[in-house]
Amino acid sequence: MMVRARRPLVAGNWKMNGLRSSAAELSRIIQGAKELGAVDLMLCPPATLIALFAAAVAGSAVRIGAQDCHAEPSGAFTGDLSAEMLRDAGASAIIVGHSERRIHHNETDADVRAKALAARRAGLCAIICVGETHGERENGRALAVVERQLDGSVPDGATAENLVVAYEPVWAIGSGLTPTPADVAEMHGLIRERLQSRFAKEGQATRILYGGSVKPSNAKELMGVAEVDGALVGGASLKADEFLAIADAYR
Ligand code: PEP
Repeated sequence: MMVRARRPLVAGNWKMNGLRSSAAELSRIIQGAKELGAVDLMLCPPATLIALFAAAVAGSAVRIGAQDCHAEPSGAFTGDLSAEMLRDAGASAIIVGHSERRIHHNETDADVRAKALAARRAGLCAIICVGETHGERENGRALAVVERQLDGSVPDGATAENLVVAYEPVWAIGSGLTPTPADVAEMHGLIRERLQSRFAKEGQATRILYGGSVKPSNAKELMGVAEVDGALVGGASLKADEFLAIADAYR
């Protein structure tokens, strides 16, 4: 049996999908998780479902995360949610810097860094997303762009407990397209190098997920790439059987 340096994590990002009736899908995930190998499972539903889902996963191996937070702990920020509120609702991690937030909400690396620090302040893990656009890859700038995002978004003092990095090429999200395993290996190698040079042993132990059109049919190949410690899954996480089939790549 292969011994892994890091325990893999498969996290589902439901984005702006899901109602209370979707708890049935979560129940199937909780059931299915009992049959899986050594892999952590997390679901990040919309904030409206965090408390309900956190109660449902209590006592199971599934964890609940949030999709974004405000950098401040409280205050006059109508409509926003702090990391402390998300923790209070039952989240154990927060996705920050997803490309949909960077693009539609103009979030900068500095914003993402502040949100990652907010997650840490609340005692939560920040899942920091980085990834190049199609144009940037075409122009041969993918590595430089991701290195810049990583350096600007990941705060000092990161540990394997308070940080997960997700490499998500923007052009692969929701498109059905994926980078070649060689391109994934090159990018994850670069991310590992940067994390190790900044955080030494903690950088070695930090999990680096791949995200972008992961589905049951490509999960084994993508999860088998060097320095890939799991997946951040969008569309395919909405169906319990697909999500579980992806996590089953670690059987
Ligand atoms: C995502 O948005 O984080 C994502 C990976 O989406 P999808 O799996 O649908 O490409």
